[in-house]
Amino acid sequence: MTYDAIIVGAGPAGIFAARELARLGKKVLIADKGKLVSERRCPIQSGAASSCVYCPSCAIVSGWGGAGAASDGKLTLTTGFGGNLEEYVGDSLLQLIEEVDEAFVYFGADARVYEAKGSVARETRRLGAQAGLRVLPARIRHIGTDASRQVLERMYDALALRCEVRMNSPVEDVIVEDGAAAGVRFGDGTEARARAVLVAPGREGASWLEKIIGRLKLPIASMPVDIGVRVEVPDSVCEVLTREFYEVKCLYNTPTFDDRCRTFCMNPSGFVVYEYNNSRRLATVNGHSLKTKKSENTNFAVLVSKTFTQPFNDPIGYATHIAKLANMLAGGGILVQRLADLRDGRRSTTSRIDRGMVKPTASAQPGDLSLVLPHRYVTDIVEFLDALGSIMPGVNHGDTLLYGVEIKLYSLRLELTSGMSVPSVPRLWMAGDGAGVSRGIVQAAASGIVAARSIADAA
Ligand SMILES: Cc1cc2nc3c(=O)[nH]c(=O)nc-3n(C[C@H](O)[C@H](O)[C@H](O)COP(=O)(O)OP(=O)(O)OC[C@H]3O[C@@H](n4cnc5c(N)ncnc54)[C@H](O)[C@@H]3O)c2cc1C
Repeated sequence: MTYDAIIVGAGPAGIFAARELARLGKKVLIADKGKLVSERRCPIQSGAASSCVYCPSCAIVSGWGGAGAASDGKLTLTTGFGGNLEEYVGDSLLQLIEEVDEAFVYFGADARVYEAKGSVARETRRLGAQAGLRVLPARIRHIGTDASRQVLERMYDALALRCEVRMNSPVEDVIVEDGAAAGVRFGDGTEARARAVLVAPGREGASWLEKIIGRLKLPIASMPVDIGVRVEVPDSVCEVLTREFYEVKCLYNTPTFDDRCRTFCMNPSGFVVYEYNNSRRLATVNGHSLKTKKSENTNFAVLVSKTFTQPFNDPIGYATHIAKLANMLAGGGILVQRLADLRDGRRSTTSRIDRGMVKPTASAQPGDLSLVLPHRYVTDIVEFLDALGSIMPGVNHGDTLLYGVEIKLYSLRLELTSGMSVPSVPRLWMAGDGAGVSRGIVQAAASGIVAARSIADAA
């Protein structure tokens, strides 16, 4: 064997797995199809293109740091958010979160932690409860997109001394011999061999992973899919809460359809951004905030979670279909609509948006989201925003902007052991968002540590 472990994907899951394996004295190769942080440049963000040109590796979601590098690095330090890792590792998740957090601080993350305690938090929970909202307390550390890139570069400098890093190296396949993982085959046809293979390809690699799962006939545990919109409001609507919590996390069961909705990824003084999925040629919505550049708006996602049951087994296809419809109507990009226009059943126009209170922070096509989202989702979103009005007065105002669509393609949830190994394929491990274990930086990184320790134990 050339390596003790090969890791596919240099996102938080892959990076933290590589750090841990290197610490344990293992010989590691970490490969990613994307570029180093310093070379990751989106042609739209640099002004070289006005719409997505579908680069071979997307600078926003691929490369050193994974999707985390383009994010504003909100580290969620509470166990109840950012994934399902607790189901695998139980109470030890808190300890793992602390380890991940310590590493981020060591490499330069901001010292401040936002914590929802005190009278504002109590009053918010009380008002929320009256409207049927569960307001969840969370501890958050905000690195900031620009600072996040520096942290990741420092992690690279430290890790590149201790293990082999191959960027611009798409992995085509996992080599399986005699029923056990034995290495990987790269896109250029070369191979690398190892005692253990850890696959951590993130959401962007979900369709690639789908093919591997299909070929190896791996069982899938459940198939949730999150579809929704990104909401943009003036900072003043949320600032009492964001000053205190940074991010307000709420759960709600909608009255009409009894669907579970949640708020996600709140960005005070932030920007709405595009998220591209190259393999599916999709543009969806996301948001981030920066340490050095501020807008006057706050954005956050409102997501409706649905778990499909047999015989339907293509939740990613379902969400993709909806996102493609939005791209079709928006001329390849994303749609934006005022809440009042959505309620009144008419499309938004540039002049209606210009007359409104919220100046959009992203370039999006004014249109009609009800032509894209099923009635059930539109009803859920409007009902949820009305309930949120109880803790954020003004969020359900007619001028509130809704960008569509936001989807989360972490829909393949694999059956894994508590050490993140695949039960039916010896020497194969999976971690992070792609395997459906995590939904955020911290739990992705923690799942990488868990996998690394399990790999070391198995050696
Ligand atoms: C705009 C944006 C903002 C976000 N903001 C936050 C936030 O504030 N806080 C938070 O907690 N989370 C945030 N997230 C989510 C967070 O980034 C992810 O949950 C996290 O990065 C997942 O880590 P991962 O290691 O599982 O996968 P990823 O970070 O997606 O990394 C996977 C890596 O695998 C590589 N890869 C995929 N397939 C292959 C292949 N076949 N061969 C080689 N390499 C491959 C990809 O290029 C990628 O670099 C945000 C995401 C985005 C897109």
